[in-house]
Amino acid sequence: MTAPMVEIVGVHKSYGTNRVLNGVDLTVARGEVQVLIGPSGAGKSTLLRVINHLEKAERGVVRVDGELIGYLRTGDRLRELRERHVLRQRTGIGFVFQDFNLFANLTVLENVAEAPISGQGRPRDEVYPMAMRLLERVGLAHKAGEHPRRLSGGQQQRVAIARALALEPKLLLFDEPTSALDPELVGEVLEVMRSLALAGTTMVVVTHEMTFARDVADTVVFMADGRVVERGTPAEVLERPRHDRTKAFLTKIR
Ligand code: ADP
Ligand code: MG
Repeated sequence: MTAPMVEIVGVHKSYGTNRVLNGVDLTVARGEVQVLIGPSGAGKSTLLRVINHLEKAERGVVRVDGELIGYLRTGDRLRELRERHVLRQRTGIGFVFQDFNLFANLTVLENVAEAPISGQGRPRDEVYPMAMRLLERVGLAHKAGEHPRRLSGGQQQRVAIARALALEPKLLLFDEPTSALDPELVGEVLEVMRSLALAGTTMVVVTHEMTFARDVADTVVFMADGRVVERGTPAEVLERPRHDRTKAFLTKIR
């Protein structure tokens, strides 16, 4: 039996006295698309950040592809990994943010090629053709030489997705990837995400796009107050929610 792609076990996280994650357990299978929904402040972004160790959990562990993230186990003790080990683990986990975070001074192609060249020391003549193929995949090969400011928000987000793919991650995390976009630009980004899902990419997606959740997710997870309230298929959670919190949330966003 192969391990799930992501295992989150008993994760707790507080900021000061604010308990943000209150014992989260989740697994994401290989090739699964898991959509996280829930009200603002539920802890969704924090959970994504704990998965790739941008935030440290106080209790609990995260494993990605069977590997403990951020720690080394010796006997029954956990020892924190050195920063460069954490960075290496993080290259296996692509992260797409709400606000794109592209490098303004680099061209589109350079944005996609940056991490493999500067971070991994791979040769330019090998990385650039790969970056071009990724730009083709998100429909932006014709923008390779442009700077991000010349692109629409939807195009910038598609570049950000290509950039996340450039490190050949085993897992892609999306934190409200379409929330900063004008409504008419949302579809093109969701279309790219849908094609990644069809290609078997393991994805955890925080989004309020319920049509995407219904059509693309294998699993929908509803979070509130730092806990998983319920999880199931899109039909179970979105059409036949069992918990009042879920029902109230769905009524509000529809
Ligand atoms: P969501 O993404 O579901 O809206 P977040 O994970 O962003 O929720 O936030 C959950 C809670 O944690 C909120 O109350 C937020 O104010 C708090 N929080 C998030 N990040 C920080 C931080 N870096 N420092 C302090 N509090 C934070
Ligand atoms: Mg958030």
